[in-house]
Amino acid sequence: MDKLHYDAVVLGGGLAGLMAAHEIATAGFKVAVVSKVFPTRSHSSSAEGGIAAYVPGNSDPNDDPDYMTYDTVKGGDYLVDQDAAELLSVKSGEIVDLMERWGTLFNRQPDGRVALRYFGGQTYPRTRFVGDKTGMALLHTLFERVSGLDVDFYNEWFAVDLVTDERRVTGVLALDMKNMDPAFFKARAVVAATGGMGMLYAHTTNAYINTGDGYGMALRAGAAIKDPEFVQFHPTALYPSDILISEAARGEGGILRNNKGERFMAKYAPKKLDLAPRDIASRSIMIEIREGRGFPGGYVGLDLTHLGESYIKERLALAYEAAMNFAGVDATKEPIPVRPAQHYYMGGIDVDTNGINTDLQGLFAAGEAACVSVHGANRLGSNSLLETLVFGRETGKTVVEYLRKHEEVSSPSLDKEAERLLSEAYSFVKSESGVHFGEVLNKLRGVMWDKVGIFRDEDMLKSALTEIEKLRGQVREMYVTDKGKTYNTEFYNALELRNMLDLAVVIAKSALMRTESRGAHFRTDFPERDDKNWLKHTLAYLKGNQVEIGFKPVRMTKWKPEARVY
Ligand SMILES: Cc1cc2nc3c(=O)[nH]c(=O)nc-3n(C[C@H](O)[C@H](O)[C@H](O)COP(=O)(O)OP(=O)(O)OC[C@H]3O[C@@H](n4cnc5c(N)ncnc54)[C@H](O)[C@@H]3O)c2cc1C
Repeated sequence: MDKLHYDAVVLGGGLAGLMAAHEIATAGFKVAVVSKVFPTRSHSSSAEGGIAAYVPGNSDPNDDPDYMTYDTVKGGDYLVDQDAAELLSVKSGEIVDLMERWGTLFNRQPDGRVALRYFGGQTYPRTRFVGDKTGMALLHTLFERVSGLDVDFYNEWFAVDLVTDERRVTGVLALDMKNMDPAFFKARAVVAATGGMGMLYAHTTNAYINTGDGYGMALRAGAAIKDPEFVQFHPTALYPSDILISEAARGEGGILRNNKGERFMAKYAPKKLDLAPRDIASRSIMIEIREGRGFPGGYVGLDLTHLGESYIKERLALAYEAAMNFAGVDATKEPIPVRPAQHYYMGGIDVDTNGINTDLQGLFAAGEAACVSVHGANRLGSNSLLETLVFGRETGKTVVEYLRKHEEVSSPSLDKEAERLLSEAYSFVKSESGVHFGEVLNKLRGVMWDKVGIFRDEDMLKSALTEIEKLRGQVREMYVTDKGKTYNTEFYNALELRNMLDLAVVIAKSALMRTESRGAHFRTDFPERDDKNWLKHTLAYLKGNQVEIGFKPVRMTKWKPEARVY
């Protein structure tokens, strides 16, 4: 197998990975970016609504970083590490300014200042945007910037596993997807910036590539996933395709209505109404549908008609086009059919505010792959793009410090370890019979949606666990029909499924364990938040077939938990 030597390898070419790579490369270290898709096709490019930031001199006059932190902490139902949220708020202005200087053209107000819109859970409007294609604009800007640096891109390369030696990461095993050629990327530092895991759920707004590979790799290598039970469901995915209708639609004044035409959010969040945080809005929609006030098929209406045609087409072009092309609905004339779908993962590889994982030396993580934790039990809209950039940069800086202090380790057993991981991966192509991976995949996505979804209880979670464990047991007998080496996408799908199953079992187990309701984790058998017993982070490890769970305190600075009403 080829061996490539780098100081650092960044897994992922989305916003978090590129920002980390930028820092490492500008400090003069040799860095590779490995991405299973061309970087600008990463899921960051689908982000629509915007990026939250407090920019001195260019914010609502009443706003300040403290309000921003408070909103984030309350939005996250007090599971947020408050020092991390403070850092996010304080650094938000400079990162948005930087992206603007590098070339992102944010929408403007008539007086020339950057325009702002409200997003859910914000006391004052602080989301900046480029129409409803904000992620695309940011990602292209950053990719252009990093392309000008001395960074080696390995596009359409699939990272299979972390290669470890004792409790240290020494590199990554990856495959060139074009021809299945393997390579051992040897490096002192590895940054996991592999994004989210929406494909675990039958209904998701995420791209097909969001299969949680980084979580799976980290778990198999012995690192913890923090707060795995917290999965975000976005209230407004287009019915029936699950394409996201951005929160910007409600930020700009869109109204959720049931089959009686009622603005039902008035019942659930009397003050914030349609701009209540996502967990609350998603549950409210599901209750309306369950109690018979939805439309046949199971959806409600998102009414934009009062905003006027030209405003809708300028500010919410994607929402308009998606509704027209994928639901045959003209949003200027009638409500858009919407229902909740999986959207974001609050859980992630356990790291601190410097992006350091303490289970494995040399492992760092940033972006959706990481749990810092700035989102706690529920992420506020437009805080994720911000997190990828702020903590992508912090993590990159930490890696630079780390590289200055740590020498490369060499041990002959490493090559053997890489070979062992490779032969494990190849088993799917070698098997001729057993279970086809597609069957396992569909079952898993159904189980997660039905039993580890928006509403959970002990019976559902126990039954989900049994089913997931059974599916995990089938992995060894899994096969793919394509035995070729050229762009064998079926094979990579099977590797992705292995990652999904490793994560799924950890999510279900942690959800069963947490006997309270907080943010996006709602237990109908324990409907109240229980700060006395559960104001703590979950840390889940995977040891063979066993999930081991530990806990870690939430870091508080100045915000005491209070009732979360909107
Ligand atoms: C439809 C949609 C709209 C959104 N809108 C907003 C918004 O308006 N505002 C906001 O703040 N947030 C939004 N989000 C969330 C936000 O976009 C994401 O959380 C964020 O962009 C994630 O960035 P990232 O860099 O962590 O990962 P990603 O951009 O997902 O990149 C992951 C990278 O990892 C690579 N990768 C993964 N697995 C492997 C592997 N095995 N081998 C090699 N490479 C691998 C991929 O190729 C990719 O380059 C939205 C999300 C969705 C799905």
